[in-house]
Order: sequence, then structure tokens, then C-alpha cells
Amino acid sequence: SKRGYCSPSGMIDDASCEFETIEVVNKKLAPVLNELVTTSFFRYWKTTLHKDCPFWQENPLCVLRDCSVIEAEESEIPEHWKTSSLSSVDESPLGNPFSVMTKSCEYAEADFCVVEDEASKDGCFVDLIKNPERFTGYDGESPARIWGAIYEENCFENGNAGGSRLGGSGLGGGLLLSPAPRLSSLATNYNDQCVEKRVFYKLISGLHSSISTHICDQYLDRTTGTWIRNLTCFANRVGNHPDRIHSLYFTYTILLRAITKLAPYLENHEVHHFCTGNGRDTQKIEDLVLETSDITKRCGPTFDETALFSGPGSLQLKKEFKTHFRNISEIMECVGCEKCKLWGKLQISGLGTALKILFSYGDKPELFRLTRGEVVALFNTVHRFSESVSAVDRFRELHQKQGLNQ
Ligand code: FAD
Repeated sequence: SKRGYCSPSGMIDDASCEFETIEVVNKKLAPVLNELVTTSFFRYWKTTLHKDCPFWQENPLCVLRDCSVIEAEESEIPEHWKTSSLSSVDESPLGNPFSVMTKSCEYAEADFCVVEDEASKDGCFVDLIKNPERFTGYDGESPARIWGAIYEENCFENGNAGGSRLGGSGLGGGLLLSPAPRLSSLATNYNDQCVEKRVFYKLISGLHSSISTHICDQYLDRTTGTWIRNLTCFANRVGNHPDRIHSLYFTYTILLRAITKLAPYLENHEVHHFCTGNGRDTQKIEDLVLETSDITKRCGPTFDETALFSGPGSLQLKKEFKTHFRNISEIMECVGCEKCKLWGKLQISGLGTALKILFSYGDKPELFRLTRGEVVALFNTVHRFSESVSAVDRFRELHQKQGLNQ
């Protein structure tokens, strides 16, 4: 690259902005997001961590200490979050859009992933600040199989359109019997594909890059028992692979676009309110969200969602895209490390929410209907990607320093 180690420049393929723009925006956004995710509204997220893997026999969750999740205390959670799944939205004029979601395996038409119900008896609230995403030691066959299954969802061509989860022809059929597919073969020739399929692949690859970046940025040195920034880990997993850096930035452009599109909805407190039970807290959260959306609006276009699903056959393609993304959200039940599962589920939910915002309501943001959990997942996912882009910058510096010292 022109700009040196891990510094691609120019337009990001399939997006509407340059790599450099993302870095400038991220410098402004990072401190705001850092504060936002510590607020009472955004730090608690409800999920289930003990459902069985629906696709294959998975070993019990990783027993390493760093894998486990600390649940939030009952007393920390406002009562109305526990009793209302519509805590962040008013009733839709079209009726309650969430009535179809009470069974965990059913989707509303607009959804790209499983949306968990905060009022349900299953699951628990987790304080995300107390459970940071970092190296856990989850390694070997189990994560390899999960990543393999996730990338296999990228294969639209295999004739499993419109329901591999229900029909069992796509995901379940292959994976129950075979080991993880060779991932490199799944990624080849993706440039020959249509934009929607490239986007799908880059979303997964971008998430993978982001997770790997966090693992290497907060890596446990087992010999000293200290948390370190591990440049070799980063170089091997992300830094030496330009396509993975590209996917990371690309996925961030989609998330930023979703925030911009969501802004009018979040700013209209008649349809949306950050109910925390504490007026001062709520005011602070509203101010931070406003600042976030102001920054994303001012950065100019990052991604053009109207370029997707607009050609012939686009309805069918969108249906397939949704089915495959929903499958990935269900594969998350198979992650064999509690903390990895928490962050995997949260980020798939965040990406699914972004896709819903961009592709399910056309140009009618007044129809947006999101649960509190979806809004929390979206903003925390944006924060994760923001952290990754900041971490890439730190790794660049480290690379330069080590180069100078040699
Ligand atoms: P992996 O990261 O497992 O990758 C497997 C293969 O995928 C690679 O060999 C390569 O061919 C391909 N690949 C790698 N990156 C990309 C990319 N960006 N784009 C395209 N292809 C790629 N571990 C933790 O320590 N902490 C966590 O929080 C954590 N969260 C996880 C969440 C999920 C959902 C999953 C599935 C795993 C998680 N793990 C976590 C495990 C971690 O992601 C790795 O699987 C593990 O560290 C083993 O890494 P690896 O080097 O073998 O390669």
C-alpha cells in the first residue's frame, strides 16, 4: 500500500468513501462511543447463553476462566426492561410488530437475525463493560468449525436458497457429517460475484477481522499472566492480509450508514426514548447519541444501500441473503465459549439490525421499529468496529517502532 503497513488508501470497494475518511471519522467518533457504551442504557444487554446448538453436538462450554460471563445483578436492571419487550419503542400504528417474535425461532419479515425478547423468562442481562471482548483461549476444532459454518453460508450458489435452516439442506446437511470446509476456497472468486454476495462475504470477513483484532490487542501472555498488545498475532491474523483489513473498513461503512439513517428516528423522542428511569442519565445518553449521529452525518456518504437489491431477481436474492444471515445468527448458539458467544451474538445482532435499517424499510424511516436490545447491539457493534480501527492504528505504530528498533 501507498501509505505503508496495513494502511490501504483510496476508495473502499463497494462503499462510497475512502479508507482515509473512515480513519478521520473514527478519530472523532471513538471518544463519544467509548463514553456511550458505559451508560446505563447501553451497557446491559439481554441474551441466552445456554441454548443447545441446533446443528451439531457441541461440547460443553469452554471451562477456561477467561471464557466465562458475569451476569448483571437483578437490582441493576430497571423493572420496565424486564416486563416490556417494546421498551424502546411505542406501539406501531400497524399493530404490535413483535407479536410474531415470541417464539425464539420465528422471525418478523423485516429481521435479518434472531431478535431476543427482553421480557422473556429465558436468558439474562449481561453487563458488557464487565465482560470485555478479548483473548479467551478459545481455540482448536470448535471455533474452526463455527467459522467454517459461517463462511459456508456465503455460498449462495448451492441451491439452498430460501430456507436451509428449515429445510436442513444447506447448513445442517453438510456440517453434521463433514469437517470445517477449507475457508480459502469459499473466499475465492468473490470478485466475480454480484455486489450483494460480495457484501455478504465482506460482512462476515469484516466481523472476523474485528474479533481477531480485539483478541490480539488484548492478548493474554500466559508466561507472565499479563495482558499485552501482540503484533505477531495481529500480523498473522489480519495485518498481513489486505483483504481482511479491507473487509473491516467496509463493514464499518455499513454500520456508519445505518447510524446516519437511524438518526431521525432516535432523535424523535416522541417515537423513541432511552428509558433509564433516571432523567439525568437519559439526558446524557440522548446528548451522546445526538453527537454520534451528528458525526456520522457530517462525514458524508459511506455506503449506498440503494445500489443493492435493485436488479432483476432482487426479491429472491434479498430473501436468500436474509435466510443466510439468519442462519449465521443461529450458528452463534454453537459457539463453545460463553464470552465469545456473548460478543458473537451481540455483533451478529448489531449487523442484522444495520441490515434491517438499510434494507427492510425502503426510504420510510418512519416505519422503523426496533427493540431496545437491537439498538443496544447496534451501537455496541459500531463501538467494537471503532475500537478495531483504532487498534489497527496502534498496531501500525507498534510495527513502525519495532522496525526502527531492529
Ligand atoms: P481463526 O480466526 O479461527 O480463522 C480460521 C480461518 O479463517 C483462518 O485460518 C483463515 O483461513 C480464515 N480467516 C481468518 N480471518 C479471516 C478473515 N478476516 N476473513 C476471511 N477469512 C479469514 N477467541 C477469543 O480469544 N476471544 C473471543 O472473544 C473470541 N470470539 C469468538 C467469536 C466467534 C463467533 C468465534 C467463532 C470464535 C471466537 N474466538 C474468540 C475464537 C477465535 O476467533 C479463533 O477462532 C481462535 O483464536 C483460533 O484462531 P485461528 O488463528 O486458528 O484462526
